[in-house]
Amino acid sequence: MKKCSHFFDFLISHAKIYGFIFPSSEIYGGLNAIYDYGPHGVELKNNIKEFWWKSMTQIHENIVGVDSSILMHSNVWHASGHVDQFNELLIENKDSNKRYRPEILIQEYVDKNFLNDPKKKEKTLSRLSKSLKKRDLLDIKILIDELCICDPVFKRKNWTEIRHFNMMFKIKNGNEKDLYLRPETAQGIFSNFQNIIRSNRMKIPFGIAQIGKSFRNEIIARKFIFRMREFEQMEMQFFILPEEEMKWYEYWKKNRLKWHLELNSEDNKKSYKLCDHDHLAHYASVGADIKFHFPFGFQEIEGIHSRRDFDLKNHEFFSKKKLRIFELDRNYIPYVIETSLGLDRLFLAIFSSSLKKEKLKNGKIRIVLKLPYYLSPIKAAIFPLVRKDGLPEIAKKIFNDIRGYHRLVYDEKESIGKLYRRQDAIGTPFCFTVDYNTIKTDTVTIRYRDNMEQKRIHIKEISKIIEQETGLRKILKNLSNFR
Ligand code: ATP
Repeated sequence: MKKCSHFFDFLISHAKIYGFIFPSSEIYGGLNAIYDYGPHGVELKNNIKEFWWKSMTQIHENIVGVDSSILMHSNVWHASGHVDQFNELLIENKDSNKRYRPEILIQEYVDKNFLNDPKKKEKTLSRLSKSLKKRDLLDIKILIDELCICDPVFKRKNWTEIRHFNMMFKIKNGNEKDLYLRPETAQGIFSNFQNIIRSNRMKIPFGIAQIGKSFRNEIIARKFIFRMREFEQMEMQFFILPEEEMKWYEYWKKNRLKWHLELNSEDNKKSYKLCDHDHLAHYASVGADIKFHFPFGFQEIEGIHSRRDFDLKNHEFFSKKKLRIFELDRNYIPYVIETSLGLDRLFLAIFSSSLKKEKLKNGKIRIVLKLPYYLSPIKAAIFPLVRKDGLPEIAKKIFNDIRGYHRLVYDEKESIGKLYRRQDAIGTPFCFTVDYNTIKTDTVTIRYRDNMEQKRIHIKEISKIIEQETGLRKILKNLSNFR
C-alpha cells in the first residue's frame, strides 16, 4: 500500500477502531499530542518493552535495570544542563498565534518548493545549517523573510522574532523549589550510579537500562504518536573507559541497528538507516540516529550518543559526591555511550509497516496487521464453527486448558468469516476452529494469518505451535550471537 497521508489517516482510524490507540480525554474534546493505549495497544506495547528489556538485561550479563522516579530533585536538571540548555527555537505567527520551529518551517518550505532546483535547496539548507551551528537566530529570521514563508495553515507572514523555548514542564511545588517532569529517563540512571555500582558490584564496562515516561513541551507536537508531550523511552547508558569511547560507540550503533532489523525486518530492511547527527544535543560529543521510513518519510526512531563524562562530572560538581570508578591504580569518571529509543515511535514504526490492505482473488479487500508473531497482542484465537451441537463447549475447553500459557481469545459472536477478519485486523497469527470433525477426530483447523491457508492438526499440537511460533526464544538467541 502506498505510504501517504491517506494511508496515515487510515492507520490512525484503524488504531482507534481496533482498540490500539485512543485520543486522551476524548470525551472532553481530547488533549493536543497526548494519547492513550487501548486493550490491544497496551498488549503490543508491553510485548515491545519485554523484547527490549530482555535484549538488554538478559542478553548482556553486564547490563542491569532500574526504575527511577519521574520527579527528581530540581538540582538534577540544573546539573544535567536541561534548565539552561534544553531549548528549541520558537517563532510565532502574530496573526494566527500559532507556534512553529523555524528550522522545520524552512525545511518543509524547501522540500515543497525547491523540488526542481536542487542547487537552491542545498544552498538554503546549508545556510540554515550554518546559522543553527552559530546560533545566529537573526539570520534564520532573515531567511524566513527572504523566502516569504507563510504560516502553513493560515497563510500569514506576520512573524515574531525567533527565541529559545525550554521544553521541560515545570510543576509548582508550594513553597518548595519548582519540580520538573523529566524530559529523559537517563538522569535517573546517572543519579543512581553509585547505588547501582555498590549494590550490584558492577565493573567497567557495564550498562544500566530503564523504561519509563518522559515529558517534553513540544512546540509542534503532531504526527499522531510520533511526537507527543508525554511519551515513553527505553534508554540504556553504557559506562566505559574513556579511551574506549569510539570502540563502544561503533559497537552500539551496529548492535542497535541489528536489533531493529531482527525485530521488524521482514520486507522492511530498506526502511531503516543509520545517519550521523548534524546538530548534537548539549550533552553529546558524537551521535547518530537510527531512522525509520514512516508514512511521512524517514525520521528518527532511536539516538545513539556518546555523552562522555558530561553528566557524571556535572552531578559530581552539583552534589559534591564522588561519582567515579575506583580501581587499584586509577580513579576516573567513566564515559557513557547512550542508546535512547522512543517506545511510541517504535510502536508506530511497527504498526505502520505491518498494516496492509490486500486485494483477494474474489476482488474483496482484506485488512491485515502483519505484526511479527511474538509482538502480536493476541497470539491465537479459538472459535467454534457454529454455536450449537456441542462445538462451543469443546472450543471453550481448549481455550480454558491453554489460556494459562498463552494470550488467547475465545470468540463466537459472529460468523466464522467475520471472526477471521477481526483477528487479521488486530494481527493474531493463528486461528483454531472447532468443527464437526473435531468431535470424531480430536482435530481442529489452524488458519494462518499471513497467507490464510488452513490445515488440520491435532488438539494436542495447538499449545506447542503457539509456543514455537510466537515465543521470543529464537530471536533472542540470534541477538545473543551478536559481537
Ligand atoms: P527529535 O529530534 O525527533 O525531537 P530528539 O533528538 O530530541 O528527537 P532524543 O532526545 O534523542 O530525541 O530522544 C530519544 C528518543 O526519544 C527519540 O529517538 C525518539 O524516539 C523519542 N522521543 C523524543 N521526543 C519524543 C516525543 N516528543 N514524542 C515521542 N517520542 C519522542
